[in-house]
Amino acid sequence: MTDVQRETALYIDGRWVPGGGADLEVVDPATEEVTGVITQASTDDVETAVAAARAAFPGWAATSVAERAAVLRRVRDVIAERAEVFAGLIQRELGAPPKVARALHVDTPVAVIDATIDALERFAFTSEIGNSLIRHEPVGVVAAITPWNLPLHQVVVKVIPALAAGATVVLKPAGLTPLAAFELARAFDSAGLPAGVFNLVPGSGRVVGDLLTRHPGVDQVSFTGSTPVGRQIAGVAAETLKRVTLELGGKSASVVLADADDELFAKAVKITVANCFLNGGQTCTALSRLIVPESRIAQAEELAAAAAAKYAPGARLGPLVSAEQRKEVESYLDPASGGSDAVTVYGGAELPERGYYVSPTVISRVDPDSRLAQEEVFGPVLAILAAGSDDEAVAIANNSIYGLGGAVWGADDDAALAVAARLQTGQVDVNGGAFNPGAPFGGFKQSGTGREIGAYGIADVCEIKAVQR
Ligand code: NAP
Ligand code: MG
Repeated sequence: MTDVQRETALYIDGRWVPGGGADLEVVDPATEEVTGVITQASTDDVETAVAAARAAFPGWAATSVAERAAVLRRVRDVIAERAEVFAGLIQRELGAPPKVARALHVDTPVAVIDATIDALERFAFTSEIGNSLIRHEPVGVVAAITPWNLPLHQVVVKVIPALAAGATVVLKPAGLTPLAAFELARAFDSAGLPAGVFNLVPGSGRVVGDLLTRHPGVDQVSFTGSTPVGRQIAGVAAETLKRVTLELGGKSASVVLADADDELFAKAVKITVANCFLNGGQTCTALSRLIVPESRIAQAEELAAAAAAKYAPGARLGPLVSAEQRKEVESYLDPASGGSDAVTVYGGAELPERGYYVSPTVISRVDPDSRLAQEEVFGPVLAILAAGSDDEAVAIANNSIYGLGGAVWGADDDAALAVAARLQTGQVDVNGGAFNPGAPFGGFKQSGTGREIGAYGIADVCEIKAVQR
């Protein structure tokens, strides 16, 4: 066995304290070996953490924007300095290929912190409407509950805007990938964040996550994960009428319009495949449905198959996070999941002997109402669908309970923007528009409620008060 990362202490009230819960093993999905052991929080530890966050709240809320920006800038610098350490931990807990571990998992959250500090320095905490002074005030204690697919990024997009607003935080990271969160706690500690402002309580969702969701000392639950668990959390949080921010699943569509020339068409297919397979297909905004004009389906199949062939499992394509997740994803590899006319145009690639890998897979001529077109796969499986017209393409794209990401490709920018406006989704990239670390992030429909990152992320953890004079 390789060396094992041991984390036996929890970060509560500015100190490292022994965890009172059971130990939990962290498995490297690329080797199937134990790569870490953490001690989980007991329910007493959760109580201590919530009390610490409550006690720290008034002092932190009273700090100036400049003070909070200065601390967050130091946190950002520590993460940037320790980027290779973070990348190494995420490589271990997620099996991420090294290049992806650095760029997607560390450099992107650092960019998000920069954008959030920038937003903080411009944020209008007070404004006026007539004789009213409008105040944005931090909500209090935010419980952050995060998933395994982006172990640092998913934490950063919740915790940094909350701290920027002047709220305090109790974090429960995903049990499958808790290691990066410990390193983040060390970064907060060395940056001089005051005691109790950030607290780390790893543990299972059913115990620690549920306790935080019920706790009267928590003012807002910010959750990212699956839609079923999000639904459950919204229900439990309703008992204390907590505010909830939910970032849930997606089934995002990449729509290629009829006027795309061959060059744009090829670019659209290539970028859609890359986006769909990013992080082993385990991103919530994955463009997992490619919608093309009926007359060009054969062209799309050929291009997508060629692009998919470049994602060799174990090299460019990482594993899925767990054996359970692999089993889930395998249930979509049969083209029948895409309806009776669906065909596999790429699949069955050679897999490494160890690790929770599946072949990158492209299934075409998929029925828009089929399981493959409707359900989030969370693995490297792309569905290609044919549309008889641009209007039909929009209707197919919107035929989903989800509305998180999306893309539009067309020769006429204005026409493509007009289609973007018709998509019922929180993010749309037109003709390859780049990820913006300062833009609001969140979903329409059952992809969630609330927005993260930048100014919208800060506003999301604020109460609004009107003071009349
Ligand atoms: P999950 O099972 O919903 O878990 C997410 C987090 O919630 C984990 O920390 C989990 O804890 C915790 N949890 C589970 N049950 C809970 C409960 N009853 N009360 C409170 N907390 C609970 O999701 P996942 O399997 O980790 O992640 C995959 C899913 O997340 C996919 O569907 C994906 O689309 C979605 N996702 C969405 C976004 C987005 O931004 N919209 C981003 C990433 C992922 P433990 O697992 O540690 O027990
Ligand atoms: Mg789960």
